[in-house]
Amino acid sequence: VAQLLDGKSCARAVRTRIRREISQIAPQIGYPPQVVFIQVGDIAASTAYVNSKSAMAQKVGMLSTIVRLRDNISEDELLEVISAYNSDPLVHGLLVQLPLPQWIDTLAVASAIDPAKDVDCFNPINVGRLALGMAGPRPATPQGVIMLLEHYGLHMGGLKAVVVGRSNLVGKPMGVLLLQRNATVTVCHSGTHDIPRYTKEADIVVVAAGKPGLLTGEMVKPGVIVVDVGINYVDTGEDGQSHVKGDVDYATVEPLAAWISPVPGGVGPMTIASVLWNGLQLYRAALGSDSEQGS
Ligand code: NAP
Repeated sequence: VAQLLDGKSCARAVRTRIRREISQIAPQIGYPPQVVFIQVGDIAASTAYVNSKSAMAQKVGMLSTIVRLRDNISEDELLEVISAYNSDPLVHGLLVQLPLPQWIDTLAVASAIDPAKDVDCFNPINVGRLALGMAGPRPATPQGVIMLLEHYGLHMGGLKAVVVGRSNLVGKPMGVLLLQRNATVTVCHSGTHDIPRYTKEADIVVVAAGKPGLLTGEMVKPGVIVVDVGINYVDTGEDGQSHVKGDVDYATVEPLAAWISPVPGGVGPMTIASVLWNGLQLYRAALGSDSEQGS
């Protein structure tokens, strides 16, 4: 029976640490970190994500502002809103919830976010800093996966890691972060022939494909560490309602795995904790650069 990579409990520990640090720093500085969440339109899932990130930010002692913009906003208008928050010295973190309407260029928006306020590592400058191993915010979900593994004392050095999925927000940076922890990394995608050939060899499998039940027991070796990033809304036909399912077929993988993250309650809470962690680091960095400028 696998041990659980419990994202809820790990996220709680991360938030406790963030709250403690803010309560130590903010009274001396005179203001807490502030994070601004921008949502365009009213996609229900985006509203839920923004609301929970904002609620968690407040819980750890940050100021949190949600900016909801109408669905038909132009790219220029959105860029103006971003620019206003970029130049507000009391805003330390800025996140634009994806997806954006199709007439807005996501890359232009990512590039417009001040890299020093970029809590989800969207800006290509921060993506470059990640690739080069330079300091900076890391993409929330893959960083949350690393935090989860490290929370349970799991070391990645020397292990064979397979990431399924190569999106810019999850799979690709996941590969980079595992590589930086000295894992030997293979990234699989929809063009990979014979994915089981790779996953069966792996000591760690991180699945981020958005395909419910993609990783089955036949595809892994005993003792594997499995992290399930997938969030899929699946109609099971049982009660006419959709249920959240991961990318891992839990029933067949769990009996073989040494460690496994559940869905829900695994990577989801870690992603939010990781955004807050980035918010705290950017606040700290802004304070540092203020004092440098002042000296
Ligand atoms: P995405 O942009 O759709 O990327 C999916 C990736 O998986 C692509 O690289 C795709 O390959 C690959 N893929 C799709 N089907 C595959 C298959 N059958 N075999 C191998 N590779 C396959 O999705 P994403 O944003 O990375 O998110 C992935 C999943 O994680 C989704 O379920 C999403 O909801 C979830 N997610 C969860 C969190 C969280 O906090 N827990 C955060 C972000 C995302 P190609 O590149 O070849 O098309």
